[in-house]
Amino acid sequence: MTGKQQYWAARPFGYAGKDLDRGMVFELVGSRNDDKLIGMAYIQPVAAKAQLVECPGCGAKFIGHDTKVGHYEKRHIEHNVREEDMLADREERMLDQVAPLNLQAA
Ligand SMILES: [Zn+2]
Repeated sequence: MTGKQQYWAARPFGYAGKDLDRGMVFELVGSRNDDKLIGMAYIQPVAAKAQLVECPGCGAKFIGHDTKVGHYEKRHIEHNVREEDMLADREERMLDQVAPLNLQAA
């Protein structure tokens, strides 16, 4: 693979006008917050040997199957309000475990 280093979002956040979900692969646009995002562990570099998977709903690339499924459930499936709340709670707990922020770098 050639080209720019790609990164993936360890936590969902908005970047350069796009909503990134956990595991979504993107390229840095050179914003002045880029270093801070890396330092805080919001984003991680994609390993050269990573096998990316594609969302069937929108074509976005993901770092793995699980994060793609998480994104698909959130973005491409209709949920009622109670389900939305449950999913949001579950996601928050999961993120605190798997992707704690390094707030020292903030
Ligand atoms: Zn999608």
